[in-house]
Amino acid sequence: MPFLQVNNLKAYYRTEMYGISRMVRAIDDVSMTLEPNEIYGVAGESSCGKTTLIKVLSGTIKPPLKVYEGSVNYRFKYGSVDMASVSNEELQKNVRWKEISYVMQGSMSVLNPVRKVIKTFEDIIGTHEGIKNRKEFLERIQEHVKKLGLPPDVLNSYPHELSGGMKQRVAIALATVFQPSLIIADEPTTALDVVVQRGVLQLLKEIQAESKNTVLLVTHDMAVHANVADRVGIMYAGRLVEEAQAEIIFQKPEHPYTRHLISSLPVIGDKSGKSSLEGTPPNLANPPEGCRFHPRCPVARESCKTEVPPMRDLGAGHRAACHLLQGGAR
Ligand code: SF4
Repeated sequence: MPFLQVNNLKAYYRTEMYGISRMVRAIDDVSMTLEPNEIYGVAGESSCGKTTLIKVLSGTIKPPLKVYEGSVNYRFKYGSVDMASVSNEELQKNVRWKEISYVMQGSMSVLNPVRKVIKTFEDIIGTHEGIKNRKEFLERIQEHVKKLGLPPDVLNSYPHELSGGMKQRVAIALATVFQPSLIIADEPTTALDVVVQRGVLQLLKEIQAESKNTVLLVTHDMAVHANVADRVGIMYAGRLVEEAQAEIIFQKPEHPYTRHLISSLPVIGDKSGKSSLEGTPPNLANPPEGCRFHPRCPVARESCKTEVPPMRDLGAGHRAACHLLQGGAR
């Protein structure tokens, strides 16, 4: 049994402007699983639906976003949860922070600039568990930050006294304080320089290896996935177009969009120019018929304009949605 099972998920934004209603199909028929104790990377360019997927999986759906079809089922430590029927109270009491925590994009700004770091720990633990014994609470937090390689005086610092990398480590320490089953990391290394990036990714890997939780790592940066992810799912225009073990995605991608992503990665010593993809990602309020990648696909056929390619199983957990893959991998 997977830790998370997503079936045929459709989550759209319905907006109303000047009497005209628009439906933005941000997640359109996505099925995927997350296994316990794995790092699953979600990749794709801006506006491909990555952030909406996070909102649905973390149960932070607010209008105009709504789930129209499909299901999201978790197997948490305390039992199974169907996200379609779970109440807000249940999410607040048992799920958020304790089972699912979130390291968000630019998460250093989640730290309150006028409160010391220890106060933020107090706020979170106080809200979700209560603090009965202050001495025990302090020992627990000191032990936790020490395990993550943070100096103890970080707790008595204000956010502006910390570097960007240190603030991101504090954000990760906050997200892991309850040992959640799932950590969702949304572009966790954006705005950090490469050396600091490396340290933050290493920290995420170490936490995952020790706590044996699942990490959903969402980033457009394929180099980050190459370094950290066990499996990678590639999204394009609201759909999952390919999924496989990370080595397969990087060594033998099958979908033309994934091939483009991989071939555009820089290689040390390679001075040949990289070709860019023609066009821009489609408007999800009016996506193209058939394969959504067809207006930009260098190998599109006539049928690609009208027929949606089904997700095909290519063996060894490798799946891709492309008409050229009829009968298996090319
Ligand atoms: Fe390209 Fe057609 Fe495959 Fe889509 S289905 S990726 S348009 S070849």
